[in-house]
Amino acid sequence: MLDKRKFYINGEWIEPSKKNDFEVINPSNEEKFAVISLGTKADVNLAVKVSKEAFESWKETTKEERIKLLENLLSVYKKRFSEMTEAISKEMGAPMDWSSNVQNASGQAHLEDFIIRLKNFKFDEQFDSKSNNQIFYEPIGVCGLITPWNWPINQIALKVIPALATGCTMILKPSEIAPVSAMLFAEMIHEAGFPPGVFNLVNGDGAGVGTFISGHPDIDMVSFTGSTRAGKLITKNAAETIKRVCLELGGKGGNIVFADSYPNAVRDGIKNVMSNSGQSCDAPTRMLVEKSIYERAVSEAVDEANKIKVDIASKKGDHIGPVVSKVQYDKIINLIKDGINEGATLAAGGPEMPNGLNKGYFIKPTIFTDVTNDMQIAKKEIFGPVLSIIPFETEEEAISVTNDTEYGLGNYLQTEDKEKAKRVSKKLRSGIVYINGNSPDSGTPFGGYKQSGNGREGGSWGLEEYLEVKTITGWK
Ligand code: NAD
Repeated sequence: MLDKRKFYINGEWIEPSKKNDFEVINPSNEEKFAVISLGTKADVNLAVKVSKEAFESWKETTKEERIKLLENLLSVYKKRFSEMTEAISKEMGAPMDWSSNVQNASGQAHLEDFIIRLKNFKFDEQFDSKSNNQIFYEPIGVCGLITPWNWPINQIALKVIPALATGCTMILKPSEIAPVSAMLFAEMIHEAGFPPGVFNLVNGDGAGVGTFISGHPDIDMVSFTGSTRAGKLITKNAAETIKRVCLELGGKGGNIVFADSYPNAVRDGIKNVMSNSGQSCDAPTRMLVEKSIYERAVSEAVDEANKIKVDIASKKGDHIGPVVSKVQYDKIINLIKDGINEGATLAAGGPEMPNGLNKGYFIKPTIFTDVTNDMQIAKKEIFGPVLSIIPFETEEEAISVTNDTEYGLGNYLQTEDKEKAKRVSKKLRSGIVYINGNSPDSGTPFGGYKQSGNGREGGSWGLEEYLEVKTITGWK
């Protein structure tokens, strides 16, 4: 078993203030594969103290100095890429190809993109050509970064890299369920040569280290990705110290499939929702299908779901892996049972283990049809390979049902009619709308409306989250 009990504070790996072991489980076989420590208030206080001290000199570094260090980090990341693939795969159950080509690749892509954005970013500007006022963008200070397990390195990269790039110092608390990739990332930061105290890592759970971070008076900003439930607790706890709180939370994306959609739209929607075993915040988990093609769409959806293989993460191939933990497994199975009890039609999958597997947290790709938007399976973020199909008749109805959710992260629509696509996408209340399966470019902003959060990560928007804006008059 990997011994990962130390924390990275002030440029070295140190013992926690108190012994408090926590075992990391491989979800493919339910076996312990690493042990970490859950930190205490004393560990957080130490990390904050060194971050605060390091900020004094780190904030004075030039953009060029920080670019050089980020380029070093990129070289180390590429060199240790396969170690990262393995860590992500083991800790959260991503099959090796998915872990390498999608999960791990996203970390590298963010690093590459932020280097370009930083090169182009202006940290000061004249207010307008006639003005005597100058605007400065300055690092906000010490940041507390709290991340989830479902896209572990993607989320870490979206926070740590812009914080480093803008001259902030930080304490990262990765998910205690999947902390190994984060600890490898800390090793990479060390190897790249960042000064001591700029980046620190303290492991812990939400009630402990997470809460100490959100309430700490010397932390200037918290950036959190995770559940809406935890986002609310963090916001409340942070209020006493008026720190900036940036939140990337849950979702319940709609995928509107119009009758004039491209031929593979339904099948692509199934592949999308089931990928990462359904554990993506912007997964299109409600498929709204125009009534005139409903029967064909259901039959294609069921056929596609039944084709998806479920298997252990250490295997290569295009199967999906387990869900991350026993807690998530039980929650998903209970929601599948709720769907059956609520009267939705179970058209594929179900609560039993997939054939050939009797250990690990595996769930069959599951499809419910004839779902109404007031059912629990249409309202709650299930965070597993489960799709609800909802019929609709008119464009207005499709828009209204899609928007009828407390979330607003990602929505999808499928139609060959370009004007309709533009009209509908502008009416959907979410931070991103994907038309006909098109992917966003690297560096486009990502974040939510409503209870999916606030703020935007990625690109120059992601840099601005870590900056204060200062006006100085009489500059010339
Ligand atoms: P979670 O909220 O349980 O935990 C996320 C992180 O927050 C973990 O590090 C956890 O230890 C910590 N945490 C939990 N309670 C806390 C508290 N009270 N104070 C401080 N920290 C606390 O979420 P999860 O189960 O790890 O992740 C899944 C959730 O994340 C889903 O809801 C998903 O939609 C969301 N998510 C959102 C995005 C996005 O960009 N919007 C991306 C990925 C995941």
